[in-house]
Amino acid sequence: MTAQYDAVIIGAGFGGMGAAIQLQELGLHNLLILDREDDLGGTWHVNHYPGLAVDIPSAVYSYSFEPNPYWSRLFAPGSELKKYAEHVADKYGLRKYMRFGVVVNGARWDAEHDHWVVSTADGDTVTGTYLLTATGFLSQPRMPDIEGIDTFAGKVIHTTKWDNDFDPKGRRIGVIGTGATAVQLIPELAKSAAELTVYQRTAIWVVPKMDAHVPGFVRQLFARVPQTQKAARKVGGTVLEAIMVGGVLHFRQFKVFNRGAAAAAKAHLYAQVRDPKVRKALTPDYDFGCKRPTFSNTYFRTFNKPNVKLESTSIARVEPDGIVTTDGNKIEIDTLVLATGFNLWEANFPAIEVIGREDRNLGKFWRDNRFQAFEGITVPKFPNFLSLNSPYSYSGLSYFDTIESQMRHVKRLFQEMQRQGATTFEVTEAANTDFLDRMTRKLDDSVFILGSCETSRSYYFNQHGEATLLRPTSTASAYEEQGTFPLEAYEIA
Ligand code: NAP
Repeated sequence: MTAQYDAVIIGAGFGGMGAAIQLQELGLHNLLILDREDDLGGTWHVNHYPGLAVDIPSAVYSYSFEPNPYWSRLFAPGSELKKYAEHVADKYGLRKYMRFGVVVNGARWDAEHDHWVVSTADGDTVTGTYLLTATGFLSQPRMPDIEGIDTFAGKVIHTTKWDNDFDPKGRRIGVIGTGATAVQLIPELAKSAAELTVYQRTAIWVVPKMDAHVPGFVRQLFARVPQTQKAARKVGGTVLEAIMVGGVLHFRQFKVFNRGAAAAAKAHLYAQVRDPKVRKALTPDYDFGCKRPTFSNTYFRTFNKPNVKLESTSIARVEPDGIVTTDGNKIEIDTLVLATGFNLWEANFPAIEVIGREDRNLGKFWRDNRFQAFEGITVPKFPNFLSLNSPYSYSGLSYFDTIESQMRHVKRLFQEMQRQGATTFEVTEAANTDFLDRMTRKLDDSVFILGSCETSRSYYFNQHGEATLLRPTSTASAYEEQGTFPLEAYEIA
């Protein structure tokens, strides 16, 4: 029995589309892309809260093989990313593969027929020779487990389910969370809310955003002479890489980079916030880089506004008409905004149940052992499976660097299979173990091990306290390695 599809890809965001483009290039055209949402774009379809924008420069945050010369700002707004996703889907003919509103429950390797059986919530099954999961890291919204939250009688909005008809004007709003999403949203809500109370559990490092409108002549230049935008990409990428590699991954050797970034963030805070008590509360008590920092020119100064209050006392409970903190203080609100982020380690690794050879359950394997995947993509006993959102897969910088590195890995692996006339692959235990050991050793130099991260509550760390999300190498070396890994790492048949 042959599979219905060459490959089933779960996720129609940039990761899934990148994978499909690569598979097409390799000659695989019988593809199926499933997505639980009602349109393509992943994160950039789901998120449309006010203030949404990229916080990695747009010249960098896009496919290198599909530059967009028309970004309106250095850091483009979210709506432009959604349009860019649509453009890519059209240009590379990907829409014909996509099926929306399909919730995938799980996938099981059928060893008799050498293919994957993918089951969906509506009771259907589809089969594919290859299975690729591109479900993102930030795709399972976290609902906070706070006493009484279900009793709140006003409007409740999680940032991933923004109600475009909601008008903050005149509302008494409580925002829970101060991550990168809240940093973008809070200045927008503060423009017209009657009262805005921001409930902060952990302060975030915020550095200035070198943002600007991109003038028409620059866009024309990028369109006519693509090398100029390539150069901008190179500069942007190099700066980000220096901060990440020097300040975070090589904390032992280049602590000065890390301290420099923290000093820049503190100076930014000092310049923007007048009240020393508020300033102190907004200052993180953990090292820069332990947790994802962000960029904003408007977040800190929002706390100078008379209608905005920062509340850093812990929340005790939510009541039908307000929030009570552990000091007994109650603030009445009519709208509760949950900027509470995503559940990575409990709900996302993996996002669906995946059962491989010998009934190995991927989620259980990761939890019972350590979180691991060869080159952040493949796992022993999971033949023909490319898990694009795996431990050690993401560089922590532009997600497109990760996507394109992974595309290179797929290309090298599939070209070798084609050369051998083979159709199945499985990474060896030895290659996987070597990779895990190497990543573990590399982390020894990082801020995650040597810095003070205990109070950061960072999603870079899994439930066992290990920083297994980010790949602790430069993006340049990841890219190189994904195109040159030893082919003996795989058993190919
Ligand atoms: P996040 O960084 O995980 O932040 C969630 C916030 O909610 C944190 O401040 C967290 O506090 C708080 N929180 C969660 N549960 C809580 C509870 N029970 N009580 C009190 N506070 C609670 O999520 P996010 O802001 O959505 O950002 C996630 C990631 O998305 C970012 O790191 C970034 O990678 C990405 N992002 C990117 C952009 C972009 O422009 N490209 C924009 C937005 C987001 P604790 O820290 O104490 O847990």
